[in-house]
Amino acid sequence: MVLMYHSTRDASLRATDAEALLQGLAPDGGLFVPEKIPTVDFRAWRGLRFEEVAQRIFRLYFPSLGEERIANVVKTAYDKRFRTRQICPVQPVDQTLALLELWHGPTLAFKDIALSALPHLMRAAQEVTGDTDRLLILTATSGDTGKAAMEGFAGVDGFGVLVFYPADGVSRAQEKQMCTQKENNVFAYAVEGNFDDCQRAVKAFFTDKAMASSLKKQGVRLSSANSINIGRLVPQIVYYFTAYESLVLAGAISEGAPLDVTVPTGNFGDVLAGYYAKRMGLPLRILTVASNTNHVLTDFGQSGTYDARRELVRTTSPSMDILVSSNLERFLYHESKDAEIVRVEMQKLASEGHFSFALSDKDMRWGYADEDAVQKTIATLYRTAHQVVDPHTAVALHVQKMLSDAQSDKDEARAYQLVLSTASPFKFADTVLRALHRPVPASLAQQWEELAALSKVPVPEPLRVLAREKGHAPQRLTREAMRDAVIGFAKGV
Ligand SMILES: *Cc1c(COP(=O)(O)O)cnc(C)c1O
Repeated sequence: MVLMYHSTRDASLRATDAEALLQGLAPDGGLFVPEKIPTVDFRAWRGLRFEEVAQRIFRLYFPSLGEERIANVVKTAYDKRFRTRQICPVQPVDQTLALLELWHGPTLAFKDIALSALPHLMRAAQEVTGDTDRLLILTATSGDTGKAAMEGFAGVDGFGVLVFYPADGVSRAQEKQMCTQKENNVFAYAVEGNFDDCQRAVKAFFTDKAMASSLKKQGVRLSSANSINIGRLVPQIVYYFTAYESLVLAGAISEGAPLDVTVPTGNFGDVLAGYYAKRMGLPLRILTVASNTNHVLTDFGQSGTYDARRELVRTTSPSMDILVSSNLERFLYHESKDAEIVRVEMQKLASEGHFSFALSDKDMRWGYADEDAVQKTIATLYRTAHQVVDPHTAVALHVQKMLSDAQSDKDEARAYQLVLSTASPFKFADTVLRALHRPVPASLAQQWEELAALSKVPVPEPLRVLAREKGHAPQRLTREAMRDAVIGFAKGV
């Protein structure tokens, strides 16, 4: 059994599920989408654990890997790396709202869910295709993907990971996490530019034929751990299903009842996974795309015009500081079912910085939170519910509240609300302390202690370890030097 994928920009450019996993990006620069989004009867999955749902979903999207390999992938990915047995627990806030906590993995952000599985999915795909090349994973990161990819691939034979993050564009804790990874097969560079610069350069390397042939001579092939890789998206579908089931089990919703979900969004990967879950048959009603001050997506959702011709602003939610949101392309494809439209609009985006698209999905909502709203949301939630959230989650909470208030004015039926909590507040302790009007100690370790005292939650183990590490100084790189860095690093992979 195999599921065929094809490029969002050319339906005749096809690949098997295993090939799509290994290639990351389609050869024409498009993204791989499944020819058919599988559907399921979610009721048949009642009572299953996260790992069991993961196996079922992986089998649907990557059937050629076979049940046995998939069982192994899931076991390796989720057996020991998470600090909670549920992997992604649901935390109620009040009678109508809950947070889905996605940050109980090694790097304290939701990227761990997919990046714990991706290396093993890729390895399984290599076994199936008979591919013996070593894979060099190039990753542009706005902060969280980088460390999660390094952590996921560290010491995995036959893989190297090279990360590019915007110098001065990530939090101190994020940078320290990346500079303390010891294994030789993973490394991170601070690029003099912003996230979009990093992402654009990495995407260009994937279609760079000269680079590919020079790497090929060394037996190395490029791939991606960004959410442009379908192997990043599929594991994220799992927690929409398990969250729905937890809410049913907790009596918060009845089985079959609609659920609204709000997702803090940058590259549109997480919210796209929700869209897939919905298309698969999970009764999600409204999916809300929550942006920060860089609200290109909100403007797009409200006007139908995507316009990246603006300055990227650095915010307290750095993992969402993005102007070119890669996975929107997949959404556009699924909505239009027309690769030619996507190809033309993506070309226009690349050459002119904007495009227009007639949006028809009425169940998608769009909103944003500015920095002031983020601070106030963190403070209000602490005051009213004694819960501390990170700034990314606060963006989503604010947007959820704003749109819900607007909705109840219109007397629309209410559905239970789920907000995705994408990072531990400890990862952004300085911002959180400031929002709570507390002094911000100079050292990270003291900030964590302060936050632990306030929230009555102990400092997470990975950070306690990080506090003891020295690590190396960040290695800066100009944009022009990225290419040589890739070639150089490939020699050691
Ligand atoms: C990456 C990230 C996001 C944005 O997710 P996308 O899938 O890129 O939309 C939100 N919050 C946190 C903490 C992240 O690390």
